[in-house]
Amino acid sequence: MTHEEWETKCKCCARCCYEKIDFEGEVYFTDTPCEKLDLETLRCTVYADRDIRRPGCVRLTPELVTKGFLPGDCPYVENISDYVAPVPFDETNR
Ligand code: SF4
Ligand code: SF4
Repeated sequence: MTHEEWETKCKCCARCCYEKIDFEGEVYFTDTPCEKLDLETLRCTVYADRDIRRPGCVRLTPELVTKGFLPGDCPYVENISDYVAPVPFDETNR
């Protein structure tokens, strides 16, 4: 798969651009967006150089997408049969 083919799999829902919590091996989504996410367009404002402009933002790779940080209907993981997706974090999780 070319880099362009890999990139075009993303449907730009931006759900992976919200803070996540890894608590005892379980990953939770929060409702806190990355400060570089444009909430109107749902696009990253620093995408081309996000590694530099937003340290901690990781580029997706085939290996990394298996780690449980993407929603279950994300095209990068929807065909992984044993994929465990994050769950929304709310008061009931505390
Ligand atoms: S969750 Fe998947 S489809 Fe949505 S923005 Fe992230 S990588 Fe793209
Ligand atoms: S830097 Fe951009 S791609 Fe990375 S999490 Fe923030 S908004 Fe998303």
